[in-house]
Amino acid sequence: MALYVQKFGGTSVGSVERIKAVAEKVKGFRDNGHQVVVVVSAMSGETNRLIGMANEINDEPTPREMDMLVSTGEQVTISLLAMALHKIGVPATSYTGSQVGIQTDSAHTKARIQRIETDELQADLDDGQVVVVAGFQGVDEEGNITTLGRGGSDTTGVALAAALKADECQIYTDVDGVYTTDPRVCSKAQRLDTITVEEMLELASLGSKVLQIRAVEFAGKYNVPLRVLSSFEGGPGTLIIADSDKDEDSMEEPLISGIAFTDNEAKLTLLNTPDVPGVASRILGPIADANIEIDMIVQNVAPAGDYTDFTFTVAKGDYKQTMKILRDQVIPDLGGGELRGDDNIAKVSLVGVGMRSHAGVASKFFRVLADENINIRMVSTSEIKISVVIDEKHMELAVKSLHKAFGLDKSDIEAE
Ligand code: ADP
Ligand code: ASP
Ligand code: MG
Repeated sequence: MALYVQKFGGTSVGSVERIKAVAEKVKGFRDNGHQVVVVVSAMSGETNRLIGMANEINDEPTPREMDMLVSTGEQVTISLLAMALHKIGVPATSYTGSQVGIQTDSAHTKARIQRIETDELQADLDDGQVVVVAGFQGVDEEGNITTLGRGGSDTTGVALAAALKADECQIYTDVDGVYTTDPRVCSKAQRLDTITVEEMLELASLGSKVLQIRAVEFAGKYNVPLRVLSSFEGGPGTLIIADSDKDEDSMEEPLISGIAFTDNEAKLTLLNTPDVPGVASRILGPIADANIEIDMIVQNVAPAGDYTDFTFTVAKGDYKQTMKILRDQVIPDLGGGELRGDDNIAKVSLVGVGMRSHAGVASKFFRVLADENINIRMVSTSEIKISVVIDEKHMELAVKSLHKAFGLDKSDIEAE
């Protein structure tokens, strides 16, 4: 007998028929003698629909009310799934995040889980029940409903698996595993049998939404066996493995594991800004004070010694506010500088632990983009990744060309 935490995403519970299919799947595991905790997302499109309505009413809704609103999507699916299980003879009880004791901090819309009470949950399981928990939500110390950021049901699943010491956390979604890149953009992408936590963290943070980054962090920190699978087809899916379990010396180990991309960032540049000590903190300080996260940063070497250009990226949703802070606070404070912005950019990144021990990955990466006439606007690297900012219109071409050039295309590997 094993204990599984199974998370089903929005598409997997997107209609009454699909909810019934999830119930059948869960029943299958239970019939085989396993204990199951199910975590569900809202029906696909529901969270966006709720956010849309909020914005029609107020373009600056308070984060507390947003959480109160968007958490309702998951409350619908937990109850419907419990009813579907009852209908086929499976005892089940649904719980909201707050009922099940998912305690978070008070950072509304991006709260972090601090503690999970498992006693009652465990009692239900021992009593033969399937426990159905609302993903994406928790409760803070004052009893306010909080949510964990978009895609947060993954994190609910992994956190529950960690707290219950489950044998495996299974993330059921609309693709049958983690691919070398988003299979919806590159039809030649291939499913990976395994990927390391470290690589998955990079892919998730660089834009691959197949797993929320915090879910991967949890899995790494608490050693939760984590697998991504299809809700619609069978198959082994992709197992996220500990970094130490990867055999980097194996000749068959690919150099590159995957390509991530996102068009959800915007770039801001302060041209001709006075090159004085502390300039970076005077530019970025007020932005950080507004709780805006900065991603890539490039400061030019000042050609004449007195002036420099400073460029950085933020999430597209923070673009307008960042522009305003630069215009109204930073430029007057620095006493100069010319502001440029561009929100038609994309970030494309190559990830692989094999890069550590191989030279020449960066030069090949740049050559591939040059051959396609794609101009690189910014670059950032770490031991296991290279990211570039390019014009948004070139994103798909860049992903496909890099995928092919680095030998990730399906036919290439099959031919080997
Ligand atoms: P769910 O609603 O089940 O949480 P998501 O839409 O959040 O599903 O995540 C699954 C989607 O992630 C896939 O449909 C796919 O388009 C996208 N995706 C992006 N990068 C990858 C990747 N490397 N491998 C698999 N899927 C990816
Ligand atoms: N329903 C939430 C969202 O759309 C959480 C999730 O699906 O993981 O972001
Ligand atoms: Mg998701």
